[in-house]
Order: sequence, then C-alpha cells, then structure tokens
Amino acid sequence: MSDPGREMYALMERLYPICRSLTGDGVRQTLDLIEEQIPLERTEVPSGTQVYDWTLPREWNIREAWLAGPDGERIVDFADSNLHVLGYSVPVRKRLTLAELREHLFSDPERPDVTPYRTSYHNENWGFCLPHRQLEALAEGEYEAVIDSTLADGFVTYAECLLPGESEDEILLSTYICHPSLCNDNLSGIVLLTALAARLRDRQRNYSYRFLFSPATIGPLTWLSRNEKRVHRVKHGLVAACVGDPGPLTYKRSRRGNAEIDRTVEEVVLAASGEVRDFTPLGGDERQFCSPGFDLPVGVLTRTPQDEFPGYHSSADDFDLVRPEHLADSFAAYLAVFELLESGAHEGNETYVNLNPKGEPQLGRRGLYRAVGGGSFTEGALLWVLNLSDGRNDLKAIAKRAGLPFSEIREAADQLLAAGLLVASEERVP
Ligand code: ZN
Repeated sequence: MSDPGREMYALMERLYPICRSLTGDGVRQTLDLIEEQIPLERTEVPSGTQVYDWTLPREWNIREAWLAGPDGERIVDFADSNLHVLGYSVPVRKRLTLAELREHLFSDPERPDVTPYRTSYHNENWGFCLPHRQLEALAEGEYEAVIDSTLADGFVTYAECLLPGESEDEILLSTYICHPSLCNDNLSGIVLLTALAARLRDRQRNYSYRFLFSPATIGPLTWLSRNEKRVHRVKHGLVAACVGDPGPLTYKRSRRGNAEIDRTVEEVVLAASGEVRDFTPLGGDERQFCSPGFDLPVGVLTRTPQDEFPGYHSSADDFDLVRPEHLADSFAAYLAVFELLESGAHEGNETYVNLNPKGEPQLGRRGLYRAVGGGSFTEGALLWVLNLSDGRNDLKAIAKRAGLPFSEIREAADQLLAAGLLVASEERVP
C-alpha cells in the first residue's frame, strides 16, 4: 500500500452511499467491499435471539423513500441521501397535512443548514430528516410520504478478520458498521481497520489480531456472548472511531486504567501531543467490552471523540471534514502501538499498591532482606518498589526514579507479590 491515506479515502468514497443500519443489506454490502481487501468470517444471528439483557432486533431494509409537497415536487429523497430517512422507519404510503407531517419531520434548529442523522430503533416510527431552514419554509397543503421499507425477522450481521500470530494471545480491534452516510463517525473507523488488517497480513506477528466489524452495542454484545469462553485471550484491545478529522489523537483509557494497552497508547499519543482521558462508561463499544463482567483491557483511540466535532451526526460529517492525511496519521499511530506491544516494551510494567504502607514491612522475617545475594536484584529495588507503589507509579516510573534496570525492579516486585506485600492496583479493594 503506497499511500494508505489515499487508499482509505478511496474505500470510504465507495462505502459512503450505502445505507447502513443496525441490520440489513447495507451492512452486508459494506462487508462485501471490506472483503475485497481482507478475509472476513461472517456471523448471522437471528432476530429475537436473547443476548444477555438484550433481544436482537428485527432486520431493516429500505428500497426507496421520498416526500412530495403540495405541488408534487419532491422535498427530500432517499436517493439523494440516506440521512433523509429516520433509521428503522416502518413502511408508509399516505397523504397528510403539514401539521400531521410535522410529527414525522426531524431537524436540528441549532444547525439549521444540515440534515441530522436520526434513528428510531426501539419505537416503531417513520420519519424524514431535513435541514431546519427547509422545514421552516414548508408551505401549507397536502403532502405525500412514501417509505418502501421492511422491518421483519432476519439477522444481525457481523464479521471478523482473524490474523493468527505465534501466540494465541489476541489484540482486538473493534469498530461499528451501523452508521449510514457519515464519514468520521463512522466510516473512518471501518477503513482504518481494513487498512490495518491489510498491512498486518504480510507481517510477522507474535500476537494474533482480531478485527471485529459489528453494529454498535448489539454487535459487541453478541460477539461477547458467543465468545465468552475465549475472551480471556484478548490481552489488549482498541475501539477505532472518529479517526479522520483534523483534531489531535485522543486516547480514552480502558476501565482498568493502567493496563499495558493504556501505557502503550499513552506513550504514542503523548509523543504526538495528543490527549489522554480516563475511562467513562459513556461512549461506544467500550461500554460493552469494559462492562464489569468482562473488564477487558480495551481503550478507545480516536482523533476528536464522537459528539465533540462540529457536524457530528449530520450531513456535515462529510468528505470535507475527513481528509486522507488525518487517516494516514491515525494509521501510523495504530501501527506504532502494535509495534510497541509486539516488542513487549510495556510488558510486565504494572502498577501496584503496597499493602503495608505504614512504615517499612519487616523484610527479614519474610526471607527477603539480605537473602537476595543470589538474585539479580538489590535490596534497594525492594525498597523503591515498596515506597513508590501507591497506585500512581508503574514499575517503569519506579525504575527511572531509582536509576535501576527495569528487570531488577520487575523481579523485586515479583518477590514482594509472592510475599503478599503488594497487590495490582486494579485488584485493590477500596
Ligand atoms: Zn455515532
């Protein structure tokens, strides 16, 4: 791949017109295009399947939709932009007054010139989305609304690309595939993961890499429910979203907060003058991966996070906002993260809490003091680890401050762990 930014952009241009949603043929067509570049294994799970607390939805498909005014002119047409139809609209074909129609028109008064992206997944409804300025100018009279759609039992569709490595330990990369014609949120994530998988395919890999393309929320939930027994293989994970805008790289930590993926991505993002944020249970697919029952080491690497860039969830999230050079920069950042993970640069670099913080623990009684002549670490290493293990310093930071090799600090921590004097900070009971 000579110019990854351009290639990702070109794929985005092909994916853009497709009407994606939680389910349906738009999702399958999207996977068809991805599959031209990387191998995919698809899974189709029937509507109505129970997945944890959720019931998988019916499948939505749409062929055409338009709204005609009193003079017969089409006001909005699905053929021009799939954003014009409320996602999951049930079929309709009727004539109605402007007042009746208004119940089914969606606009954004704060951004009067854009068409907003709206869905109604959980309440049966139909509607059209249009710029507020256009809505305000509609004349009284009789309108004709036509939506030729089906909402029926079908499937939830998702796909995986697994690139096996030397180890069965996996790096999970996840993105959602349920947004229609929107570039940054979410085509940028789709084309980035596709390009990364294509690049990693011909590389020597220690880790196995799993790329998951699935509809938001129900996709990760369904995948987790079908892979619960193997989910421990996920050693590191990233949710890719909003990676094509001009904003700086932004990393949102995993729920664990100090997992190897967190330290690794922080190194890359901070070197690029990006921003690092703590975990919150709001956002995208990390809400499922980082739910307390899984608590996977999965963070989110974006540029400007969703709902923070102008144009979010509207027709202004387009090819002016997303540019090849930003996609290429995100691509390079992800590769840099993989390189650090593969090199083990942060392996074993944990953060601990000293369980005996009042005064020094008596090391001699535990066979640690002066009993270390044969070991490769010094007593000093023990004291440094004990003193700085307050949940805020990882072992790398301690090694730096102590002026000792990381391996010595790591071994000292192992001895202290074995003696019950330390605990990993994420396991600490508050
Ligand atoms: Zn979104």
